[in-house]
Amino acid sequence: MRLYPVAGQMLFGCLIVLLPLPSKEAPQGTWMNDREITQELRAEGMRYDRDNATLYFEKNALPTEQMDTFADLVNQGIKDIEALLKLPLERKRAQSGNIFYFVSSKIDIGRSRGRSVFLPAWRVQSKAAPYLHETTHILAQCSECPMWFSEGYASWMQSYISENIGGYDAAVFAKHGNRGVDADAAHWLASPNGRAVLPFVLEGGEPPDIVAERHAVGAPFYVLAQSLVKHVVSLAGIDKVNGLAHCQDFNAELATATGKAPEDLKKDWLATLRREAH
Ligand SMILES: [Zn+2]
Repeated sequence: MRLYPVAGQMLFGCLIVLLPLPSKEAPQGTWMNDREITQELRAEGMRYDRDNATLYFEKNALPTEQMDTFADLVNQGIKDIEALLKLPLERKRAQSGNIFYFVSSKIDIGRSRGRSVFLPAWRVQSKAAPYLHETTHILAQCSECPMWFSEGYASWMQSYISENIGGYDAAVFAKHGNRGVDADAAHWLASPNGRAVLPFVLEGGEPPDIVAERHAVGAPFYVLAQSLVKHVVSLAGIDKVNGLAHCQDFNAELATATGKAPEDLKKDWLATLRREAH
């Protein structure tokens, strides 16, 4: 999930990836907003510094060893994503300093904002925290990209890094990473919920109720988006897809990168999924 600043308000852009399962949710009424969490953890939390990341954990929320291990994991994740992005030096310099991670039982859903990532403590504890997804939102911010690409790309990156380099995949919606995402997508397209969100992948925009209806709307949207990004990567290669993250005209650059008009590209992708379903 990423929070998008619009006209002075922070809107929920991508939430669903990080929503907790109902059984693991913190008790209602204990969740805090980002400013309160930041203040509380900076004042009372446990701080861990690494060369690329500064982490604050709610006191006593996790065993010391787990905090230490997660700090190393997050720090390495930043380096792995940066290496895959081949970030030019000037962009690296422009991104000022460490990324901050806040981990607390008072955080309901994982999200990123500016240079900060907020993660529910239970997700860190159970190795289901979307730290690679959120870190991708920060390192490859894409102001001109449609939601399907921003979210599909962050999820694709999370799976790619964990499958090929290191770390883990939070696997909130796509349960089998990039290797299994096409089968998951084909499965969703066989259901009314999958077909209902398909236009938002094909034409852009944000499905209504994506926050409230995380299982019926968020799950198929994220899985379809990740599958489509995987298809784009198969045609254009990783470097060109990384380049799309700082595009000026998304559809024009998508066409250049893949050699296909976006409509044809998406038709081909759907044909791939139909073959997957048989
Ligand atoms: Zn996201």
